[in-house]
Amino acid sequence: MTTMAPPAEQADALRRAGLRVTAQRVAVLESLAAHPHAAVDALHADVLERIPGIALQTVHGVVNDLTAAGIAQRVSLPGAPSALYEIAARDNHHHIQCVECGRVEDVPCAVGEAPCLQPSHGHGMRVIEATVTFRAICSDCERNSPA
Ligand SMILES: [Zn+2]
Ligand SMILES: [Zn+2]
Ligand SMILES: [Zn+2]
Repeated sequence: MTTMAPPAEQADALRRAGLRVTAQRVAVLESLAAHPHAAVDALHADVLERIPGIALQTVHGVVNDLTAAGIAQRVSLPGAPSALYEIAARDNHHHIQCVECGRVEDVPCAVGEAPCLQPSHGHGMRVIEATVTFRAICSDCERNSPA
């Protein structure tokens, strides 16, 4: 779960990860905190409101830096047209996604640490993580669907 944090907190997160604090990085982190599970396009549109003229390529670069530093993480969702990102959390949470409108929400993991599921047959491989996505229909889509 993410909430809007004051800019000082974004700067701290950058310093802790060994990244130089720049206006672009702080702005992208703010956007990630306000819009979890966002594509780079959406983050760019949001950051543009605070840093006029910032290039999409710059936001791509910042997202890559934040992901490499472990501050942001990529969310793997089946059928997502582009990669989605969120502030990295150590809570091993999962996602529930509306198959109609694509809305994505966080779901706490019942176990809390990875891997929270073990395969019945692991083929000799050590399981690192189970990525669980609940495919669902949100109440808005349910209401609007023809009966
Ligand atoms: Zn929906
Ligand atoms: Zn999430
Ligand atoms: Zn779990």
